[in-house]
Amino acid sequence: MQWLKISLLIILVCGSEAYSLERDMRVLTSPEFEGRPSGADKPHQSAHYITRQFEKYGLDVHFQHFEFEYGFFDSASGHNVVAIQACQRVQCHSPIVITAHYDHLGKRGSRHYPGANDNASGVAVMIDIARQLQGVDIARDIIYVATDAEEKGLHGAKAFVKELGERQIYMNINLDMLDLQKKNRLYALASRTLKPLEAHIEETFKATSVKFRLFFSAKIMARRLAAPQVDWLRASDHYPFHRADIPFIYFGAGMDKNHHSVKDSLDKINFEKLTQVSNAITKFVLTLVSESDIASTTN
Ligand SMILES: [Zn+2]
Repeated sequence: MQWLKISLLIILVCGSEAYSLERDMRVLTSPEFEGRPSGADKPHQSAHYITRQFEKYGLDVHFQHFEFEYGFFDSASGHNVVAIQACQRVQCHSPIVITAHYDHLGKRGSRHYPGANDNASGVAVMIDIARQLQGVDIARDIIYVATDAEEKGLHGAKAFVKELGERQIYMNINLDMLDLQKKNRLYALASRTLKPLEAHIEETFKATSVKFRLFFSAKIMARRLAAPQVDWLRASDHYPFHRADIPFIYFGAGMDKNHHSVKDSLDKINFEKLTQVSNAITKFVLTLVSESDIASTTN
């Protein structure tokens, strides 16, 4: 019955509509997806849904299974969705890895946590990047990772980084909570090693009406956002990459008063702004994977 309801929902939202971020977010936040709880023995239906979207855009997709421990005694299985757009050239630069966690808080009793901003927004934008870059001639692989068990301690990202071993990665771009709400502000925190790209990153957002602010220090970011309690370096999936000396840029819209409440729902999302954010990040990714000065001056 559940599956029938889900298929009907998917047919309804996908049927005639042209592509929109709203469609993917509506599916991911629907009650049938039960708040996308972290980890389970089998991949959650949201992981299957994300897989199908990536496959539509011609990517090779697989689940990465991992085990994680949480609390004092509990352990569980998790599943990252890993989708690869491969560089087809004779010589390719090192890959970039784009991450967005798909898990959220699940259900508590009869209440379901939709997790629209956290982080259906990041997942939808990641899928939109894959859509916009399909068929593009790229000079490095793009590895998209929809991570699981972020909410329980960044476990999906940790497992992914661990499995990389010695493999060289050019950069991690992490997307978590991209809804600009009424503030119209987007923030980024980047590794200090990416300082040479500062002007280039900022340039990407100049053509939009989004007020963009880039930080290289989590402490300064917390101060500017008047959120001294948040450690922006450790707050999301970019942290395991940072720990492994992989340069990262984390994009997010800062504090959300509905964070981790049932009110983090689809009706709060500003889709016009989210589309602008998605297009700008896509444009930025494109410059990183094209044979530009920026891409070719590094590995
Ligand atoms: Zn999140």
